[in-house]
Amino acid sequence: MTLSDLHVHTTFCDGENTPEEMVLAAIERKMQRIGFSGHSYTSFDSSCCMTIEGTEEYKKEIRRLKEKYSDRIEILCGIEQELFSDFPAEGYDYIIGSSHYLKKDDGNYIAIDYSPEVFEEAARKYYGGDYYRMAEEYFENISSVADMGADIVGHFDLIAVFNKGNRFFDENNSRYLAAGKAAADKLLKKGLSFEVNTGAISRGRRDIPYPVPEFLRYIIKNGGSVVLSSDSHRTDTLCFEFDKWREYIDSLL
Ligand SMILES: [Zn+2]
Ligand SMILES: [Zn+2]
Repeated sequence: MTLSDLHVHTTFCDGENTPEEMVLAAIERKMQRIGFSGHSYTSFDSSCCMTIEGTEEYKKEIRRLKEKYSDRIEILCGIEQELFSDFPAEGYDYIIGSSHYLKKDDGNYIAIDYSPEVFEEAARKYYGGDYYRMAEEYFENISSVADMGADIVGHFDLIAVFNKGNRFFDENNSRYLAAGKAAADKLLKKGLSFEVNTGAISRGRRDIPYPVPEFLRYIIKNGGSVVLSSDSHRTDTLCFEFDKWREYIDSLL
């Protein structure tokens, strides 16, 4: 089986290691393939994404590494394209389509995965505490990454990032499940793959990957293809717990 990880960040965005350090770690781990997925430029929030100039340098650097290590590992240049990014995703080997924000009428963008406090405050301020309405809007958004040319759906149920132990809402609620399954239907119809993302586990935020079993089973049963990814921001989390979660995926088949 090919050991491959396509969701990898670097110092070009909010990662801790350079692309070359990531490549060397991947070779050490005996990976056959590594794909980089820098955060696309978003003008309204520059805290985690690549700059416009940085995006060009990123492409150039990955090209250089592709050449330099071509006899040792396959290197792909992808992008994690934010739905609300106003910068086009052009010239990449693949696109991970993600949505990290909710766009509000007052011009604000809520960063879903910033902190539990920000999440809770946004639910109160914009949704009157109705987490299911918030989730419905999120799932509507994530279903739209199909329209921007994405190949892979990034962390499908990111809206539950801080919801360990159903802290804010019940993930078995019928409205929540219906919204998620409707989004999955649209993405499946367009033929996108779904990542099984272990990033929140390596960061201690969750015990299981995205998507939760209920959604993952639904996706697989409806013919969707899945790909394990680590959402690594540093060398030591490449392919994080892939063996364990590959078995788990197989058990759902
Ligand atoms: Zn992401
Ligand atoms: Zn990411």
